[in-house]
Amino acid sequence: MHFSKSREPREYQNRRLDALAEPPEVGHELFVGLSALRDTLSSRHHSRDFTFAHARYLRSRVLALGLIFALLSPLWIVVDSLVLPTELLRYTLLGRVVLLLGLVGVLALAYFSRERIGRIRFSAGMLLALPAGFYLLVLSMLPPEQVHSLVGYGFIPFLLVAALSVFPFTLLESLAAGLAMLGLLAFSQTVDGSWLTGRGVENFWLLSSLLVVSLAANHFQLSLLLRLYRQATHDPLTGLFNRGALEVHLEKIQAWQRETEGQDSLGHVPCSLLMLDLDHFKRINDSYGHSVGDGVLCQFAELLVRQTRRHDCVARYGGEEFVIILVGSGPARALEVAERIRFAVEKTEFRGHDDEPIPVTTSIGVTRLEQDEPPREALRRADEALYRAKREGRNQVISAMGPASP
Ligand code: GH3
Ligand code: MG
Ligand code: MG
Repeated sequence: MHFSKSREPREYQNRRLDALAEPPEVGHELFVGLSALRDTLSSRHHSRDFTFAHARYLRSRVLALGLIFALLSPLWIVVDSLVLPTELLRYTLLGRVVLLLGLVGVLALAYFSRERIGRIRFSAGMLLALPAGFYLLVLSMLPPEQVHSLVGYGFIPFLLVAALSVFPFTLLESLAAGLAMLGLLAFSQTVDGSWLTGRGVENFWLLSSLLVVSLAANHFQLSLLLRLYRQATHDPLTGLFNRGALEVHLEKIQAWQRETEGQDSLGHVPCSLLMLDLDHFKRINDSYGHSVGDGVLCQFAELLVRQTRRHDCVARYGGEEFVIILVGSGPARALEVAERIRFAVEKTEFRGHDDEPIPVTTSIGVTRLEQDEPPREALRRADEALYRAKREGRNQVISAMGPASP
């Protein structure tokens, strides 16, 4: 399908990006760590994609730590049987059986919840809540004068606060868990009578200090995770998704299409692929220099993001080739969007370092993403359509719909 270069009523704002990086400042790394505070405080600003990656990390740690807890807890029965009178042993034995069953449940939940973010978070919370609940149960069941017979129970709040640092929890999540552990310590101190005594205050101070260290570990772990995730999935020049992330995203969208296929309310969700290539980009590099070329790529990327919706995916596929996945858009809508983008690029005033205007146009290949085909097949079709657009004169949109399209 061929599109005429129609008039576009809307004017698009053209924000200029400075392509030159700022020189690094002394102590820059520290500021990067601190400025990441917003992202480590809560998960409110995390992208959906990172939330999945984060949940996968959380799950692997729940499985590892859950296994350690499940192995260690029954082993302590040996210590209990050596130090506790027989009439008290049955309380702790009963508690340990409940704890072990709970831990096995948590492990099973995490194991079978590969992509279920809510369930993984719940299992991480339960992994900490179960030993705390066990300690609370033993403290409440035992006669207060017998509490002193317990050996190796007082460290449970300390162990759990230290365990917080193993997880890439957000600061608010860790803080809530840490405050609960301080509450548990306070309760145990009122039971054993050490509340507000020298030893009690010392332990309280120790647990608070341990919590601060765990919070710092959470912050650095999560910000490192965010940075690694960003480096692995994003193009450093434009900030868009890179080719690897695009291919993973295509597979995820196809899986989602298959999942929603049978649901009456949604029906079949069509998705389309746009492949864009800047026309005669080599000339821009040759005439204005490579860094101006970089600046044009950044301005182009910004324009693509402005022209698409939040749940569409914009990626830098190669040098000056970009791919957009339009989620929920069938062939007709995809052609409309592609033509709107082509027109916006033609009308936008791209600027060089001295504010000189640089004429830029783009050719676009459009195809439909079939839910059962290998993603590379759809990319190949879009590339073929793009190649035709180039051959037939550039600055145009050509469609190559899949075999199943009407
Ligand atoms: P057409 O696509 O219209 O056929 O012509 P073209 O000149 O755009 O063709 P080609 O794909 O051969 O050239 C792409 C150029 O893009 C070559 C390469 O130097 C340049 N390029 C690739 N990546 C970057 C980059 O990151 N920055 C800059 N400035 N240039 C890049
Ligand atoms: Mg090109
Ligand atoms: Mg190219």
